[in-house]
Amino acid sequence: MKKKYFLDLLTSLNPEKNKPFNMKKAVVVEMLNKAIAGEKLTNSDYARLVNCIHVSALTGKLEEFYSISSCVAENDICKARAKDCNSICSECYAMQSVNYRSNLKLSLLINHVILNCFDIPASVWPVLAVPSINGKARIESHGDVASIQAALNMNRIIESHEWLTFGIWTKNYNFWRVAFEKEGKHKNCTFLVSSDRLNVKLEIPENIKQYVDHVFTVYDLKTVKAENVNIQCGFHHCKECGICYDTENTTFYVNEILKKDTKRYMKYMGIE
Ligand code: SF4
Repeated sequence: MKKKYFLDLLTSLNPEKNKPFNMKKAVVVEMLNKAIAGEKLTNSDYARLVNCIHVSALTGKLEEFYSISSCVAENDICKARAKDCNSICSECYAMQSVNYRSNLKLSLLINHVILNCFDIPASVWPVLAVPSINGKARIESHGDVASIQAALNMNRIIESHEWLTFGIWTKNYNFWRVAFEKEGKHKNCTFLVSSDRLNVKLEIPENIKQYVDHVFTVYDLKTVKAENVNIQCGFHHCKECGICYDTENTTFYVNEILKKDTKRYMKYMGIE
């Protein structure tokens, strides 16, 4: 996927004060050049790439969680959705946060290139030790899967960390469907498909139903009141809730209150 584009992009970037980025960039550029020249990468090449993956320590609702994420700013599907004013992606929090945190954007760019451009064997991924305080981790917090290749690599990360439960968040579910069809869905993950329409539940296509653990929808307060929507999310921390990481599938529809309505919702519900 777009190896030459990413090679040119990385080569053009050389931020003076970001040594870690420049060191990782050198590895990724070396491997992109090898791949473009048709050279076969070795397991030790792949291990060097895996060592460049950035694991994000999350904050806010997700404090004490870590995630592996690609870069929303390089995801053409996300960028197209962000231009659709009927989509909640037009107010994408991840897009805003990567665009004002330049070092985070560079780290996620490295992830994006590694995940999308290289077919890293499952046997190499254990080199990446994903930290966890609570036995749970998240796949995608600042982006969404951009290709079948990225879904395959992230599925192999899940496979190689069987002691963790990963919540996979996506709106681009077809890439994951193909990865699951090819290499199976692992027991230590939940698959959440989220709607890009405010107040509208996603109709799940027949061919992904078997993989979906939760359907995630955002509601505004007006609709919550009018339709008596049961809200589970938005007013407490994931470490206290954990519904989305429940592999037993007890709450299929998970509903979140729109961020800007959270305070008014809590007042309405009498939540302290
Ligand atoms: S429903 Fe619970 S686990 Fe899921 S995102 Fe919201 S707070 Fe986190």
